[in-house]
Amino acid sequence: MRTALEQYRAILDRIDAAELAAGRKNGSTQLVAVTKTFEAADILPVIEAGHRVFGENRVQEAQGKWPALKERFADIELHLIGPLQSNKAEDAVALFDVIETIDRDKIAGAIAREMRKQGRTPGLLIQVNTGEESQKAGIAPGDTLAFVERCRSEHGLTIDGLMCIPPFEENPGPHFALLVKLAKEAGLKTLSMGMSGDFETAVEMGATHVRVGSAIFGAR
Ligand SMILES: *Cc1c(COP(=O)(O)O)cnc(C)c1O
Repeated sequence: MRTALEQYRAILDRIDAAELAAGRKNGSTQLVAVTKTFEAADILPVIEAGHRVFGENRVQEAQGKWPALKERFADIELHLIGPLQSNKAEDAVALFDVIETIDRDKIAGAIAREMRKQGRTPGLLIQVNTGEESQKAGIAPGDTLAFVERCRSEHGLTIDGLMCIPPFEENPGPHFALLVKLAKEAGLKTLSMGMSGDFETAVEMGATHVRVGSAIFGAR
């Protein structure tokens, strides 16, 4: 079996190749290494190899491992990629450097309040439910532009971009295309899309961030 470090390096090579194939600039896609369910000991080899951008989907789980790692490696950039409850906004703003999953006014308001209170300014993305799945978090595609505007005008937030998780059993291409279109209409640059099974497609379609977990750290 290959180690996480070997698999990490292979993913970087595949991102490079996908950028080249798409005529994109080398290094224009950031790998967010997704570490949910894995422990510090599993993650450390990848940090020691120089990687700094990681994703977790639960606030509480992240609080158990990342504060100590962030103390040792000050330039770590931790992304929250899972659904957020407003009672977790305080902890999320305190720990995460990027929050990718803003999807409703209540959360936007809670994040804005905590940012003012704590004097922290994490990067902010809006999660779009491109497949309009009832069980999935995210704002509906048709409501996205108005929500981006309310985040700016009513909540005073600077939104950097959009994130999506396409329906598991569908071809992700049309979902990535929809996210690209919405971001363009909203004047947003950051696109977080693509996971272990489809990150090359996402890179080819313009992802600025791909979130890859199991293809690096193994099955969960
Ligand atoms: C777990 C997770 C990922 C990574 O998924 P893999 O298929 O393991 O690469 C990406 N994005 C989100 C939102 C996740 O929860």
